Amino acid sequence: AEELMVQSEKLSVAGQLAAGIAHEIRNPLTAIKGFFKLIESGNYHTSDYYQIINGELNRIELICSELLLLAKPQAVQFRTVSISALLKDVTLLLETQAIINDVWFEFDFQIEKDYVKADGNQLKQVFINIIKNGIEAMENGGTLSVRTAVQNGFLSILISDEGPGISEKVLSKLGEPFFTTKENGTGLGLMISFNIIKNLNGSIEIENKKDKKGTTFNIQLPLEGYN
Ligand code: ADP
Ligand code: MG
Repeated sequence: AEELMVQSEKLSVAGQLAAGIAHEIRNPLTAIKGFFKLIESGNYHTSDYYQIINGELNRIELICSELLLLAKPQAVQFRTVSISALLKDVTLLLETQAIINDVWFEFDFQIEKDYVKADGNQLKQVFINIIKNGIEAMENGGTLSVRTAVQNGFLSILISDEGPGISEKVLSKLGEPFFTTKENGTGLGLMISFNIIKNLNGSIEIENKKDKKGTTFNIQLPLEGYN
């Protein structure tokens, strides 16, 4: 099975990120400008243009709100958080989206004292990103399983889907800002998630299932009070 460790060098390159942001925002801006020109010229399909312009503006807004989450380190508060409690909150939040996509959650929390020192909102962000990806990967529905386990003082959070898996080519690009294979993706979710987990001295391993279809994201975090 293909496997990927978080590559920290990939994440800290501010220039790469800046270029990506400029590119991502310039595309919808160029489109908006073009449609304004058409409207100005008195072309009569204006109501269609408004819809497209609105879509492009929404895209810029989405990119900005995801980036703002990145740019808010001052709001970070490290506390003792229970991972299973966080995971329950997050799956509650995503329940509607799951039902719409015919996806069912399955839980197996093995660890009672699953405490980690972290910012709860940041960790929620990570779990939301990875679980959402899992839901989106299962076009015809399926089971999304969320498990916890302990290994060498680290808590493993295993998030598995029954989607098509991830090709080696895509795997090598994960975590790069704005890398997406989705029509309406931002390609920011995994980059943000890798960054947050790296800052907690944890890691994320991605593995395609060996026996059946699907992918497992293994998020490892130092357990509080170990040592
Ligand atoms: P986005 O979801 O906006 O595309 P992400 O950073 O969350 O951005 O994910 C980047 C890419 O990684 C996705 O476009 C998809 O190709 C791939 N990916 C992530 N998670 C999965 C998964 N569970 N199964 C298949 N592909 C995945
Ligand atoms: Mg995503």
